[in-house]
Amino acid sequence: MKYLPIFFQIRGRHCLVVGGGEVASRKARLLIRAGAVVNIVAPDIDGELRDLALKSGGRELRSTYAANFLEGMSLVVAATDENTINAAVSRDCMDRNIPVNVVDNPSLCSFIMPAIVDRSPMVIAVSSGGDSPVLTRHIKTLIEKAVPKAFGKLAELAARYRDAVKKSFVDIDLRRRFWESTLDGPVAEKVLAGRDDEAEQLLQKKITEGAVEREGEVYLVGAGPGDPELLTLKALRLMQRAEVVLYDRLVSPPILDLLRKDAHMVYVGKRRAEHSVEQENINQMLLNYAREGKRVLRLKGGDPFIFGRGGEEIDLLAKEGIAFQVVPGITAASGCASYAGIPLTHRDYSQSVRFITGHVKNGVLDFRWREFVEDSQTLVFYMGLTGLAQICSKLIEHGKAATTPAALIEHGTCPDQRVIVGDLLSLPKLVEQKNVRAPTLLVIGGVVSLHQTLKWFGN
Ligand code: SAH
Repeated sequence: MKYLPIFFQIRGRHCLVVGGGEVASRKARLLIRAGAVVNIVAPDIDGELRDLALKSGGRELRSTYAANFLEGMSLVVAATDENTINAAVSRDCMDRNIPVNVVDNPSLCSFIMPAIVDRSPMVIAVSSGGDSPVLTRHIKTLIEKAVPKAFGKLAELAARYRDAVKKSFVDIDLRRRFWESTLDGPVAEKVLAGRDDEAEQLLQKKITEGAVEREGEVYLVGAGPGDPELLTLKALRLMQRAEVVLYDRLVSPPILDLLRKDAHMVYVGKRRAEHSVEQENINQMLLNYAREGKRVLRLKGGDPFIFGRGGEEIDLLAKEGIAFQVVPGITAASGCASYAGIPLTHRDYSQSVRFITGHVKNGVLDFRWREFVEDSQTLVFYMGLTGLAQICSKLIEHGKAATTPAALIEHGTCPDQRVIVGDLLSLPKLVEQKNVRAPTLLVIGGVVSLHQTLKWFGN
């Protein structure tokens, strides 16, 4: 992060705007919206700006800027079109540790102002740290669309009943659940539909009845292959609801960033040969947390039901009568193939696709190889890096052409994705030279030849 995002309390405090034109007016208006007392210094001050300042309780100082005007100021904005003045304001403020913003000149600022979506009391701030104002505006527009205006009213309603709810629900977890079920349920729906009175009555009823569900639940969620944008909306929603999260190595850090900040995180990672939490232990942990009444998220790479032991993890829950949901994710085969420009079942090359585990047990891969060498099929090996040479030579040995195209996709869908392309004969050597790291996916078949023309992602 280039800047620390914070919200600054300036209600009733003196701020100084240096400059008397339109830009200065815009900044003054913003400061006044946050309750500041705004003082203006400039030789010429626009009439409207003057009125604004006086109404906020501030003064208009018809003068050129001088450092003594900084006396008693909590925050300063320089909005003149003279560089020397802007620079002087910046330097004087920095010397005195007064937060300063020079409009459109980040190098002279000790703070910058984000784009905002105002749903007061809810305020959403967006910034690219000055790198791309256009992108910032674009994101702001997306948020404007996504967050209904009435969310402000909902936040106000919540604020009015905060103390009452605190009294009725002493336990913090219970209180949070109350608010979650309120702000994400019928009360919120009524506010959004403009039925404020009904919403308030319903809220009061919930408080007197102490209505809050307290049933543990497990969400078994596929996080996809790495790119956070490949999460489903449902995955994202449940990620923001869960109080406890059990996650493993395959879930990428940018995805973990999207979890609720106060969620209790339990790493149950699985790396070959690494002593991680045993499967039975994970199953038991899911059960225990759910029994405590928690919303438990079991977050897995790709799809939980594809080489993900998802079935084993919910088996115990099903037997014990714990509620659970399973959310599919984009499996590695699908994600990696798309991001490598390899259409898995392009009809010119393939009629079917097989997902195969390439996990080597006691040094051997035990397959009915003959089935794999038939034409017009695509083979996708998960966990196939260690066994790569063996897989390729066995296929050749059983009659597959040594020239069959084959690709190894490393860190598919992630910014550092690499695609190494060769054929059954050459691929193991190529991979050896490239210092490849897991996770990788092996794709074999005619469709791999399309990569050259259809690749679109990464370098
Ligand atoms: N449930 C997961 C698979 C778990 S098995 C899914 O549906 O994708 C783990 C294997 O998945 C890895 O050894 C690797 O072969 C593959 N894999 C997962 N993510 C990958 C990625 N981003 N790039 C390449 N392979 C990946």
